[in-house]
Amino acid sequence: MTDVTDRPAAPGPTANTTCYLCGSDQADVAFVDQGIALRRCTSCRHVYSSWSQPDDYDGYWDQGVSAADIDFWDDAHRAVFDQFVDHHLPGPSGRLVDIGCGLGYFVATMERRKPGWQVDGYELAPGAVTFAHEANGLTQQVHLGRIEDSGIEPGSVDVVTLWDVIEHLPRPQPLLEHLRTLLRPDGFVFVQTPSWPFQITRARLLRLLDRSRDDQRNHLYAKDHVNQFSRASLDRLALDCGFARPTYDVLKPVLAVDGARGAVAVQAKLALYRATRATWALSGHRIMANPTLFATLRPA
Ligand SMILES: [Zn+2]
Repeated sequence: MTDVTDRPAAPGPTANTTCYLCGSDQADVAFVDQGIALRRCTSCRHVYSSWSQPDDYDGYWDQGVSAADIDFWDDAHRAVFDQFVDHHLPGPSGRLVDIGCGLGYFVATMERRKPGWQVDGYELAPGAVTFAHEANGLTQQVHLGRIEDSGIEPGSVDVVTLWDVIEHLPRPQPLLEHLRTLLRPDGFVFVQTPSWPFQITRARLLRLLDRSRDDQRNHLYAKDHVNQFSRASLDRLALDCGFARPTYDVLKPVLAVDGARGAVAVQAKLALYRATRATWALSGHRIMANPTLFATLRPA
């Protein structure tokens, strides 16, 4: 069984030394993860991996779909998927596009919870699309390929979702600019991505607690998460791509810890969720201590 946290990634031929947001090559090393430097741009403060990743990375599912994958992407994601559907989707009908839809579990959630919506998922990994078709029955809804080649007409989409996608893309700008053109005037793009301030704090703490396993531990997924977003860098990316400054929310966590589920770990995650949600509200939306960023991007 493959641990979902230890995916091998396609090796980059050369180390990347250019900031994906501002183009500067001046940086400090913020953290070294599995021998790979995470660089903090001295110009715009964005953090990016020195691991070089292809623009159309599709290697995440190369080793097949394991039982752990299904648990992680189905059961462990149900709470946050349901909360998003309940609180963020306007009305009983509309059109939603899910980018990097993987095995299709969010598309399946939409089919179950919002049958009046037209939903399409796009995914680059053939193995994931086959699973979505055969195991989840989503032959009409899940498509192999890039959204840019889909033929979806501009101004026709209400909501685009990117669940755990943009941190994998070295250059998310062309995709986000394209997605903006697809939106209706009141439409939005919803982005979920790990929050760098939380993740770096967690990584430093884990390293402090147990240095003996340091070379084995994948603290920050430097081979997969080539961009590490904070609210400031996600703000910048959105503004660069023709969106207004994003609004943020605290939604429920993925109910697994490092790909595994245990009752104590899940309860700890839920306790952290309640604490971060309260802090976010009580601070007047200034203090965001959540492990994950949930951002809504509307056209400027
Ligand atoms: Zn920069």
